[in-house]
Amino acid sequence: MFKKNTLHSKINLFILGIILLIVTIGCFVAINIFFSIYENEMTRMVTTGITAFEEIIIQENKNWLLSFSDELADPENRLLIKNDPASIQAFHQYIGHANNDALEFVKVTYLDGNSYEKIFADQSIINLASQNTVSSTTKPYFWIDGNAQLGLHLFCRYPLIGSDQIPAGTLLIGLNLADQKRVDYMKNTAALEATVFAGNTRIATTIVKNNENQIGTTLDPAIADMVIDQKTTYTGKATVLGDPYLVAYSPVLNPRDEVVGVLFVGKSMVSIYTIRNRIILYIAILGFLLLLFFYIISNHWLRINITNPIRWVADAMKMISQGQYKVLENMPKAKYEEIEMLQTTMYDMVNELVTGKKNLETAAYIDSITGLPNRVSLYKKYQNSPFTDNSNTLTQVYYIDVDNLKYINNLFGHNVGDSLLRQVGWILKELISRYPHYEVYRISGDEFAICKNGSYDPDEIQHLPQSIIKEFEKSITIGEQIISASVSIGVSGNAYCDGKKCKICTKECQDSLEQLLKKAELAMNQVKMNGKNNFMIFNPSMNEIIQRKASLQQDLKQALKYKQLEIYYQPKFDLASNRYDGFEALVRWNHHERGFIPPLEFIRIAEESNLIIELGDWILEESCRFISNYNLTHQSSYSIAVNISTFQLLNDDFEEKVTKLLEKTGLDPSLLELEITETMLMNSMSIASEKLTFLRERNISIALDDFGTGYSSLTYLKVLPISTVKLDKSFIDDIATDKLSLKIVENVIQIAKNIGLKIVVEGVETIDQLEILKDLPCNKIQGYYFSKPVSELNLTEVLSEYP
Ligand code: C2E
Ligand code: CA
Ligand code: CA
Repeated sequence: MFKKNTLHSKINLFILGIILLIVTIGCFVAINIFFSIYENEMTRMVTTGITAFEEIIIQENKNWLLSFSDELADPENRLLIKNDPASIQAFHQYIGHANNDALEFVKVTYLDGNSYEKIFADQSIINLASQNTVSSTTKPYFWIDGNAQLGLHLFCRYPLIGSDQIPAGTLLIGLNLADQKRVDYMKNTAALEATVFAGNTRIATTIVKNNENQIGTTLDPAIADMVIDQKTTYTGKATVLGDPYLVAYSPVLNPRDEVVGVLFVGKSMVSIYTIRNRIILYIAILGFLLLLFFYIISNHWLRINITNPIRWVADAMKMISQGQYKVLENMPKAKYEEIEMLQTTMYDMVNELVTGKKNLETAAYIDSITGLPNRVSLYKKYQNSPFTDNSNTLTQVYYIDVDNLKYINNLFGHNVGDSLLRQVGWILKELISRYPHYEVYRISGDEFAICKNGSYDPDEIQHLPQSIIKEFEKSITIGEQIISASVSIGVSGNAYCDGKKCKICTKECQDSLEQLLKKAELAMNQVKMNGKNNFMIFNPSMNEIIQRKASLQQDLKQALKYKQLEIYYQPKFDLASNRYDGFEALVRWNHHERGFIPPLEFIRIAEESNLIIELGDWILEESCRFISNYNLTHQSSYSIAVNISTFQLLNDDFEEKVTKLLEKTGLDPSLLELEITETMLMNSMSIASEKLTFLRERNISIALDDFGTGYSSLTYLKVLPISTVKLDKSFIDDIATDKLSLKIVENVIQIAKNIGLKIVVEGVETIDQLEILKDLPCNKIQGYYFSKPVSELNLTEVLSEYP
């Protein structure tokens, strides 16, 4: 129970120690108090015992001896007065009836010297008594004497008075002072043990040990010597026959003031010490039981009130770390403040953690702008989806791209862009709420996905995108802006047939989320290519488009390497001078197998694979060299306009390349015009602007191509260092037939002119268009009316028309 290094065991140990200490001190104090009281009582008893013993031994003997002598010497008896045989006989008879075992001798001595005696003991005792001759004629004289050999004796010399009151002689009597009877009497009355010593010789004793009367000496020699030397009584502790005793020793003196014996009274402490030891044992047992009791109680208390709550907290933490937060609901009520604090702190901490985790999850799975689940959430939901049945899995995916979001961001700012996305989210959410099992996700910047988690429905596949597109026909209000947004939608689906693989859709109905998304995106891209704001359902031919793209990419590399590309030149007609004054370089690829491939297609492929840099460099270099040579050969000063892809422009060393190229070819920079489109510039407006400014400062012209098809053309005119605007073909297509179109073109040209820009109108195909344009203040015309783009070889011939 104390092995583990736990708080509980430490507290247990501590409590146990305290209890042990208290019990020990308690026992010690109790025993000491008890025994000091007892010993005091015993000492008092022993002290009174010795006095009583003296009285019994000495005084009582004295009294008896006195009354015996009184009787014997009574003058009325006249017993001892006469010294005749009758009297002697009577004397002997009297003595014989004296009835005292202790009587040792009686000797009558008359003044005339005659004497007679009766002796019960040794003759030497009379001799001892006779040594002391002190006597009185009027009163009896007592003394004690003796030695180790003879023992202790009480002697009395009693004066014999005749009837005439004349002293007649003395009576000498000896009495054994310490007979066994008296010592036994002591034991019986005072419960004390007693011994009489003559010198150091024990002559009567009550001490019993091991059921035997102790006949050896019971005198403690050290104490005896002290008592004999100092002639004083000693009271205290002593060892008697190896046993602990409380004792009193009292000296017995003879007339010569010599110690002739010692009286001993003692109380054996053996039994009481046995009792004491037993008490200690009982107390120890009691203490132990108490200890056990307290231990069990304290252990129980500790467990209930401290250990268990702490354990609970520890276990709860463990479960919480495994994500089982429910454990907190069953939190037991704490009885103590500290535990309650611990629990509350834990509770708060866990709540904090849970909230943090939830926030993290929200951040991870929810799109912050629209509040819709994001791509991660979409993948999480369908990643491991078993695409095996019809009823409860991903069957339809709608890939929705917001058209021209970049323009909107650029034109109105990112806040408006974000608000637009939010509204798109709401619109889509609102729309799908009309259909069961649909969910909408924002999967990237301007892309949303609607997924159906339920049975495949061929009608919905048509209706839902239609209604989305219809919904976006309404304009959207964001703050003060009214924006007309549109979306391009690609659709894909798993056309399950009653949950079973069927003959028609063997492969198609086994698509994973990844595949469905890819297909829908492909369809969406197709919509984008076809002019946006529409929807398309994926069909396998789109895969072919992808494959075609991939193989074209490979082929394009080869074509570049083996110089299979060609540059065509389309002349620009200058209205002021009524002649061609330059050309636009347009790349051509006549594929050895596929035939003519439109530049828009392979330029896009090149842009997707970084090939555009190499391709663009080649075109730029080829056309510059060509025009430089052409001018040199023909003594002319035709300008050349080269289309520059945004990727090309944004490449780090583009400006450097252009300036070096001009040096290398010797082409006058004013004869070079770079045509850029606004489409992709907006993302890197500042860099583009910097680069174009650099080039413009070196007298290279910059033309804004396809003007009128983008969003913010007028903004670009202000921001970028543009020198020329190329009005897109779509602008002038119906100027000959539609008054409104004409009005627009007139205004645009006017604005551009006002800013000081040159205007090139492209895509002019008819004489009518030309006639109209001639009346407008535009500078140049480009289009099939004059000439299609032609190869180098045919150029001179074309030019000869308007030299
Ligand atoms: P773009 O720069 O707007 O080029 C003008 C396009 O309109 C050319 O098509 C040209 O052949 C065509 N075009 C000119 N006049 C008429 C007309 O009266 N009627 C009709 N219907 N079309 C006319 P092309 O050569 O097919 O080029 C298409 C686009 O491909 C170009 O549009 C340009 O964006 C890109 N492109 C062509 N060559 C290059 C190039 O060398 N480099 C880069 N970066 N892009 C190029
Ligand atoms: Ca162009
Ligand atoms: Ca153009």
